[in-house]
Amino acid sequence: MNNKISVAVLGATGSVGQKFVELLADHPWFELTEVAASDKSVGKKYSEAVNWVMLSPIPEKIKDLVVRKCEPDLKSKLVFSALDASVAGEIETEFANKGYYVISNARNHRFDDDVPLIIPEVNSDHLEMIKKRSGGGAIITNPNCSTIGLALALKPIHDNFGIEAVNVVTMQAISGAGYPGISSMDIIDNVIPFISGEEEKIETEPLKLLGKHENSKINFANFKISAQCNRVAVIDGHTECVQIKLKKKVSADEIIDTWKNYSTLPQKLNLPSAPEHPIIYFCEEKYPQPKLHRNIGKGMAVAIGRLRECSLFDYKFVILSHNTIRGAAGGTILISELMKSQGYLDGIL
Ligand code: NAP
Repeated sequence: MNNKISVAVLGATGSVGQKFVELLADHPWFELTEVAASDKSVGKKYSEAVNWVMLSPIPEKIKDLVVRKCEPDLKSKLVFSALDASVAGEIETEFANKGYYVISNARNHRFDDDVPLIIPEVNSDHLEMIKKRSGGGAIITNPNCSTIGLALALKPIHDNFGIEAVNVVTMQAISGAGYPGISSMDIIDNVIPFISGEEEKIETEPLKLLGKHENSKINFANFKISAQCNRVAVIDGHTECVQIKLKKKVSADEIIDTWKNYSTLPQKLNLPSAPEHPIIYFCEEKYPQPKLHRNIGKGMAVAIGRLRECSLFDYKFVILSHNTIRGAAGGTILISELMKSQGYLDGIL
């Protein structure tokens, strides 16, 4: 017997679900004990239901777990959701109403008034807005995978200098479209200049994340973001080219220093999944690159480079973050570590 908290993953067979299985294999605080997915997988052993595409083998303890239905009769009261958005909204509500803590990667509940949208290094104080449902559970959300890299890069700039406007062009990896995702005929030798719903998420989610939690509500940050999103032939790692207009005149060195010195509650608490440095700035003009840097900080750090003056805005730079680690499973696990360390999971076994 150990005293780890038992967790379940909904959507455990998908792109993000597999990353949860991989990251939870040796977690010091959480033990993955239940996996759930769609009817086509239910009743099969996990190893038979999944088309495993992670580099490490399926953890021995998980291989033979029988895939459960996504119904709120699971033993684990802490549930990570990697469900497709077409079904996530309803299923997550059912779980929360039945007393489960659901931490979700899906878009459905991100703007609900009683649901915090959290990046632990950006707005850990927003956890205070968790309102337990009548059954004692709650929903907490992880932002969109491109939003996470962007919001982490913007947070220290916004706090120190004030942001007036942001323009961002993304180059997003194939794994961001789930498994099996886009057909090879569509993506090889190609760039697809459209990802459904993505631009809207990137233009709105950072404003909630950078907003202030006052009088039990979030006052959204007050600046405009314009986003253009592209799918590119990279397996993992979203790259974003960003232009920003600031409220204050500052030098490039001042911005780089705020990134380099950025350290927050998860670092102070030494949470198991927290990168030592959430932001890593590269001076080399060819960096960051997805092939070289997506796993930096075990995939939990955001790599930034090429900060330079912009002739239209004030500055421009490039961000890279791992979409299924920092942008999904790893980010969600970090939220749950923060919740545990802050007492939100007391009483959950
Ligand atoms: P995915 O590969 O398509 O996986 C979807 C999962 O949902 C599978 O396990 C699937 O189970 C399950 N599912 C589908 N329909 C279901 C139903 N009717 N009932 C129960 N389970 C059902 O998608 P993904 O890329 O992992 O994304 C999962 C979620 O995370 C999405 O909401 C996505 O927007 C979000 N997200 C993804 C990324 C990323 O980089 N991929 C990053 C951030 C957030 P079966 O295998 O049995 O069909």
